[in-house]
Amino acid sequence: MSLLAGKFAVITGAASANGLGQATARLFAEHGATVAILDLDQQASEKAAQALGNQHIGLACDVTQKSVCLQVVETLLARWGQIDILVNNAGITQPVRLLDIEPAQYDAVLDVNLRGTLYMSQAVLPHMKQRQQGAIVNMSSVSAQRGGGVFGGPHYSAAKAGVLGLTKAMARDFAADNIRANAVCPGFIATDITAGKMTDEMYSQVLNGIPMGRAGKASEVAGCCLFLASDLSAYVTGSEVDVNGGSLIH
Ligand code: NAD
Repeated sequence: MSLLAGKFAVITGAASANGLGQATARLFAEHGATVAILDLDQQASEKAAQALGNQHIGLACDVTQKSVCLQVVETLLARWGQIDILVNNAGITQPVRLLDIEPAQYDAVLDVNLRGTLYMSQAVLPHMKQRQQGAIVNMSSVSAQRGGGVFGGPHYSAAKAGVLGLTKAMARDFAADNIRANAVCPGFIATDITAGKMTDEMYSQVLNGIPMGRAGKASEVAGCCLFLASDLSAYVTGSEVDVNGGSLIH
């Protein structure tokens, strides 16, 4: 079944080989979408796009730079003529305790996760509004809902909670324009964001808190993004969807 045939999708932070963005890009391409992989490094983005097939595009885009976001969207619209889907997936985290958060750490985490989500959304929304069509999927985290306790520090929880608020405000603002915005809240998924950075003790503590008893897979988050990006979720907007193996049942 091709759920995204004829659709054009932009996914930020999607060059990371084991990441949620790239798994989502792969699944979207399998479902017929043409995908733009945006990430910090041009070559890595191009390589990831090439691996999906010739029609896909990889571009450098630092989502913290508004002018770059606007330029990249302009380039894509010149090539494609339309953008149907935006997945704001780029994110960074840091395992820092509240009293130790330095100003530069706060800025870095808030900028990529929250400011980047705003800037990329601002870049695509005028076009989506003009076409009266669009789906935006924002990557939040279970950390936003339960106040951390996985890997990221309080500034990460705050940034991802900000993403939830922004998603809901965006959903409300643009619902009448047939643009849906939803958030995904992954629990602990084994990707490079934590790879090699967790002690055995941290790892077993996290696993103990997951009723399903295992880390999630990137493909399991991608499946949720596919649902929210496709017409399967045509009447779903402003929601936050948990993909966490039961680690937050509420
Ligand atoms: P990852 O580190 O594998 O991928 C993140 C990607 O974002 C990288 O490719 C990185 O280069 C890119 N990136 C960083 N700063 C950027 C910027 N300024 N502009 C553009 N791209 C930038 O991590 P992941 O686990 O795949 O994380 C993807 C998203 O999912 C993140 O938003 C993360 O916070 C969120 N998340 C992950 C987990 C998890 O357990 N892995 C859980 C909850 C939420």
